[in-house]
Amino acid sequence: MKTKKIPMRRCVGCMESKPKRELIRIVTYDGEVKLDATGKANGRGVYLCKSVDCFEKAKKRKSINRSLNIELNEEQLNLLFKELSQYEEKN
Ligand SMILES: [Zn+2]
Repeated sequence: MKTKKIPMRRCVGCMESKPKRELIRIVTYDGEVKLDATGKANGRGVYLCKSVDCFEKAKKRKSINRSLNIELNEEQLNLLFKELSQYEEKN
């Protein structure tokens, strides 16, 4: 019996590989940065756990900037943070 392969992506915060659907995509396109809840938006993307902690880690290490090869200013980061916190899965 064949098992379906689950697409895995690495979170830029904790650097753990997780099933793609458990992560949220941050995408940059045309100089703009946004959360891509559908996972289908155009542009270059990175993945992050739906966790404010991981966002903080990524922010501290500037791994979003580095992975996307863009400069994120404080305002853009705060905006992403606010959006992400709406998706955070509370346990
Ligand atoms: Zn993570």
